Amino acid sequence: MPDYISALDLFTIGIGPSSSHTVGPMRAALLFASALRSGGKLEHTARVQVKLFGSLGATGPGHGTSNALVAGLAGQTPETCDPEEVSRAWQQANESSMWFVFDRQLNFSADDFSFQPLIHLPRHSNGLRFTSYSSSGEVLLVQTYYSVGGGFVEADHELVREQRSEVPYPFSSAEELLEICSREQLSIAELAYRNEVALHGEEVILSKLSAIWQAMKSSIETGLTKHGQLPGTLGVSRRAADMANQLRGMTEDTSNEWLQAFAIAVNEENAAGQRVVTAPTNGAAGIIPAVAYYAMKFKALPEDAIAKDFLLTAAAIGSLYKRNASISGAEAGCQGEVGSACSMAAAGLAQVLGATNKQIENAAEIAMEHNLGLTCDPVGGFVQMPCIERNAIAAGTAVAAVRLALLGDGTHKISLDTVIETMRQTGLDMSTKYKETSLGGLAVNVVEC
Ligand code: SF4
Repeated sequence: MPDYISALDLFTIGIGPSSSHTVGPMRAALLFASALRSGGKLEHTARVQVKLFGSLGATGPGHGTSNALVAGLAGQTPETCDPEEVSRAWQQANESSMWFVFDRQLNFSADDFSFQPLIHLPRHSNGLRFTSYSSSGEVLLVQTYYSVGGGFVEADHELVREQRSEVPYPFSSAEELLEICSREQLSIAELAYRNEVALHGEEVILSKLSAIWQAMKSSIETGLTKHGQLPGTLGVSRRAADMANQLRGMTEDTSNEWLQAFAIAVNEENAAGQRVVTAPTNGAAGIIPAVAYYAMKFKALPEDAIAKDFLLTAAAIGSLYKRNASISGAEAGCQGEVGSACSMAAAGLAQVLGATNKQIENAAEIAMEHNLGLTCDPVGGFVQMPCIERNAIAAGTAVAAVRLALLGDGTHKISLDTVIETMRQTGLDMSTKYKETSLGGLAVNVVEC
């Protein structure tokens, strides 16, 4: 676990459809390719084999993992890749019988990928193992990675993405966060900002938060214009653009329906493998952008407050879920993904609406409390049903949680820390059938056609 989980760790610009099945594996593949190159083994490599274990083995194909791995080995990153190019990567490798590790061309066969859903590596259910072989079949390098949710990748017992330095206000629980804020007379957003400035510098954090917000906005605005069917075998049609057209013709208050359309627009972009921001994961990528966009459109909040105070407060709360429970559907079920995002969005909205720190904590707690037990059972392994609509509902829950919290003074019985710990325990108790394996729930009761 890193010393401090930054907003830039939780919000990363990447591609859909899944942070743990697309973004994380692409990063892992790039790390393996880089290890081959830096170890002087790349020029001797004649074959690379990839094994996907557990949830990655079960739902990887539906989540675009194969494309992400081929693109990552070739040197692409989630932040800078062309989503269209990535969406063709696996097919191109198959058709041409070749693929690349950086610019080294290798022969490719479908046997180079092995999906092993029934094998769960002890450390995490999203395991990947890369092996490189010489032309004589000698093993040159074996590395095992874990895609632990939100695009985070671990390897060799270390969190690969993290390089930490000291922050002025470290905290590891909501209670501690509130206590420091009270002592220092800071809002949660201000405290988080000071920590981020210590980590990244003022200019970098402001420009990166702005880029993250612009990418979130763009995923909404683009998603609201697109029609047609989403990839995969389910035959799910996009509907955000149709919703928007209907809403534009209505005269009554449609802010709640717009909120849902914003979330659906993002998640349709995500399902189509397009550019989205992990918030904190891809499956839950619509909730925070939708609530933030709603605040901008219907609460007249300025964009600089959204890009700074909203996102930083959401991230401060998200760091508690990442640190003390999980943001991974494969580890904790959908409560870990959509529940965490809902709670983060509620905190961000409460902050920019002028809530006290206690009210923010209350809003975040309410939002998670009513997502406890939520299972992850994507039909056909695609991040479409129930995922897309679920983001719309969770965005509504986040706004409702803020309304409830703002009607009180922040005093409440169940603390955010308690509900986070309850989510962790519920995730541990949850059968693996309901943790992104598509072996239970809607995934087995909805007939694919
Ligand atoms: S059901 Fe929830 S956790 Fe599972 S893939 Fe969909 S959004 Fe992610």
